[in-house]
Amino acid sequence: MSIKSNIKLVNDSLQKGCRLIAVSKTKPNEQLLEAYEAGQRLFGENKVQELEAKYQSLPKDIEWHMIGHLQSNKVKYIAPFVALIHSVDSVKLLEEINKQGKKINRVIPCLLQVYIAKEETKFGLNEEEVLDLVNHFPNHFTHVSIQGLMGMATLTDNQDQIRAEFKSLKNLFDQLSQQALPPSIIMKELSMGMSADYQLAMAEGSTLVRVGSTIFGERNYSPQ
Ligand SMILES: *Cc1c(COP(=O)(O)O)cnc(C)c1O
Repeated sequence: MSIKSNIKLVNDSLQKGCRLIAVSKTKPNEQLLEAYEAGQRLFGENKVQELEAKYQSLPKDIEWHMIGHLQSNKVKYIAPFVALIHSVDSVKLLEEINKQGKKINRVIPCLLQVYIAKEETKFGLNEEEVLDLVNHFPNHFTHVSIQGLMGMATLTDNQDQIRAEFKSLKNLFDQLSQQALPPSIIMKELSMGMSADYQLAMAEGSTLVRVGSTIFGERNYSPQ
């Protein structure tokens, strides 16, 4: 299957109100261009350097999404152009994004990454930390716009577990949607679902699915 037909296949299976982010990490520009020519405009990357290099060399109407763990000292490289940072996993990081946004007079769109998986290693805020941040949102965070939540389910074949984890994120999303929020927080996007579980995620209310290998094929991480 070609990238073009894969894009079409995934797009045809999307529910109304759900958008596809083509996760192009490790893939060369030619493959991104193939997706671009098939009409794809939202791309996701997980490394700052790669994201920046691809932004520089590819068409300017692409929306670049940062989906991977982000170190504070690298925020400045993507602050001018990033469409959405999905992976805000600490207040310290949000502080830095706000600082960089202020410097260039840009309000930077962000999602709070919530820890929903049973695994130990996943990054993210827990529910309590999210509520605490939202309910005591610092007044000086003038250059970030929180637009929703992101989560990753446990890497498992157990569909019930994955569904339960997505449900818990959707519940938090709904709970926040129904409460009074500061002006710089809106609950608009729910980023959940990858190649293996995006159908499940959509059924639970995802608005952004992050799909890589189903579109571009397996990634090759072997050292050069
Ligand atoms: C790599 C990655 C994806 C896409 O994974 P696939 O299984 O290839 O679809 C989605 N989200 C995040 C955060 C990723 O790092």
